Amino acid sequence: MDVLPPGSTLGILGGGQLGRYMAISAQQRGYRVAVLDPEPDAPAHQVAHRRIVAAYDDPSALEQLATLCQAVTFEFENVPAASLEPFAKHGVAIRPGPFALATCQDRIAEKTLINACGIETAPWRPIGAPSDIDSALADLGGSGILKTARSGYDGKGQAKVQTPTQASEAFLRFGSVECVLEGIVPFSLECSVLAARDVHGSCVTHPVCENAHAHHVLDVTICPARVPESAAQAMRDHTTRIARRLEYVGHLAVEFFVLHDGAVVVNEIAPRPHNSGHLTLDATRNNQFEQHVRCVLGWPVLSYEQMQAASAMANLLGDGWTDGEPRWERLSEFPQVRLHLYGKAQARPGRKMGHLTAWSDSVEQAETLVRDARKALFA
Ligand code: AMP
Repeated sequence: MDVLPPGSTLGILGGGQLGRYMAISAQQRGYRVAVLDPEPDAPAHQVAHRRIVAAYDDPSALEQLATLCQAVTFEFENVPAASLEPFAKHGVAIRPGPFALATCQDRIAEKTLINACGIETAPWRPIGAPSDIDSALADLGGSGILKTARSGYDGKGQAKVQTPTQASEAFLRFGSVECVLEGIVPFSLECSVLAARDVHGSCVTHPVCENAHAHHVLDVTICPARVPESAAQAMRDHTTRIARRLEYVGHLAVEFFVLHDGAVVVNEIAPRPHNSGHLTLDATRNNQFEQHVRCVLGWPVLSYEQMQAASAMANLLGDGWTDGEPRWERLSEFPQVRLHLYGKAQARPGRKMGHLTAWSDSVEQAETLVRDARKALFA
């Protein structure tokens, strides 16, 4: 049988906010949830039926989770490949599968797959040793962004480099691990496409989101993106093609750069629900977590039917807590804005504590609502 029946247990590797929303979605449909995360008070542990407090590579903890669950998923792509072995041994459905995970946790494998689909990325060269740098930098026009091939996120493990010396220094600083050097893309906008693909290979895409970053971290998302229809269609088509090539099961996001002439190139793939998809929690009939959990448990994918013409999301980072708790009472002046908090006790600069969503007839109005509400909270 394809569908795991309600009452089955979903295992989740990772207990952050993405895992928390996955757990809540599964529980709403009558499933049990077991979460593995090293932090005892992790957001998903707070809502799980079973909490396993251990490192992601702890063999006995993985064995315990594998005997508890019938399907397993993960909320971040840096799960060690070896951590999936106990699940395979016990016949647990691993979704997305090990191939998708292995591809998306290595920038070289990921870009190779995207390019093999006939889809453009930033021009890139693999850097395995300092001796690779000179010719790579020259090929890319003399400047670029050096990124570690593995374990980077939100701008971490990245350095903009303009000379071979800067590139060599960055390579050493990153611990001489395998890297890629990317050409700098002169983009006009950053976008993402959310998609979900089920065990039967049916894939649906969400209207394109437009993303504004601050200090390499997502700040505000609006949807639909203000891009030509041809660019939006290309991004959705590319995402479907990539998901098929990855034999993907679950929800994913593909991040794009849109150039001034409307051409699109892929930045990277997130093999999981994505921060830019948080607006689906309130703006679509079936949000990204519902879609992910459905696909992982073997149900057919649903549509991302929109409840409103436009929506927006603004992240609430720990920086807003510097002078104490935000002024929550001021949200009463914004009845159209919805607050989401992840249950994190400690606010730290840069830490994602929650987000705001709003929806309206136009993206401009929705964006103004979330920005004004955030300003009022942090004033
Ligand atoms: P990443 O973690 O790879 O998504 O990079 C974080 C952010 O850095 C992106 O959202 C872009 O704003 C910027 N960035 C990354 N790669 C490039 C590139 N090749 N060209 C221009 N900007 C980039």
